[in-house]
Amino acid sequence: GDPSVHRIQCECCRKVIYTQTRNRKYCSFQTCGHRMLNLRKSLKKRIERGAYTCPCCGEQFLPIRADARYCSNACRQKDYRKRKVTAHASL
Ligand SMILES: [Zn+2]
Ligand SMILES: [Zn+2]
Repeated sequence: GDPSVHRIQCECCRKVIYTQTRNRKYCSFQTCGHRMLNLRKSLKKRIERGAYTCPCCGEQFLPIRADARYCSNACRQKDYRKRKVTAHASL
């Protein structure tokens, strides 16, 4: 083969492509390049918003949504059930 051609794997869709561009990372900038750029942007936004401590297990996590309060659905449900029990106990 041609030594100037590199075999790379797209960082987004994992498709194997052959390219002459040394630092190419994506099969196509229009599709996968943009997708990863947007992904990184939203990830950055999440980090800027700051990590949140799960009130259930105390684990630090990056909320996917601005109003997310628990690290997982399981913790949200667990805490909800726990609160229900304490509410009953105090009555
Ligand atoms: Zn791709
Ligand atoms: Zn948790």
